[in-house]
Amino acid sequence: MLAANHVRLAEDIKAVETAGAKWLHIDIMDGHFVPNLTFGPQTVADLRKEVDLFFDVHLMLDNPQNYIDAFIDAGAQQISIHVEPEYDVEGTLKKIKERGVKAGIVLNPKTEASSIKPFLPIVDLVLAMTVQPGFGGQSFQESVLAKTKQINDWRISAGLDFRIQVDGGVNDENAKRCWENGVDTFVAGSAYFRSDDRITFRESIESLG
Ligand code: ZN
Repeated sequence: MLAANHVRLAEDIKAVETAGAKWLHIDIMDGHFVPNLTFGPQTVADLRKEVDLFFDVHLMLDNPQNYIDAFIDAGAQQISIHVEPEYDVEGTLKKIKERGVKAGIVLNPKTEASSIKPFLPIVDLVLAMTVQPGFGGQSFQESVLAKTKQINDWRISAGLDFRIQVDGGVNDENAKRCWENGVDTFVAGSAYFRSDDRITFRESIESLG
């Protein structure tokens, strides 16, 4: 959604739904944890009235624990929080789940996979950033796939069923390699909104299985 035209957001997001998408990935930035700003719960609440898409909210905030209720009240159905800032990560994941919303844990390209391992039994999703978060349009960091493979190995050996998602620079060419390294959920921003043929990307993801 970061890559959409924000002046005609509802129109762009409705087009995503009409094209057959099921999820809307919503990037929330605070200007502290990442050097950019996006929007807050009011925008999410307004979009909630326009579409039936599953709202997958990615909080890039220094203090995500303070905003959980606001985004759930606005219509978030999944909330993902970063492992890097100093706050009660486990308590915040539990708070999300207590409100009946799916919970995800996120790690940046430079963050070790081991940092999220303790949370795997309680999460619905692991989001591996494939760019440094904050700005759209960066190129995909191939080295992150070693981490998704490791996380997938842990998922299999522990018999867990969380999703593994990648976010940042995902396109037709690298999606297959992601899939081969345990990824099952793809965030497509620029690859979708800036492509001439928006259906092509969806078809190439669906062809992976
Ligand atoms: Zn995101």
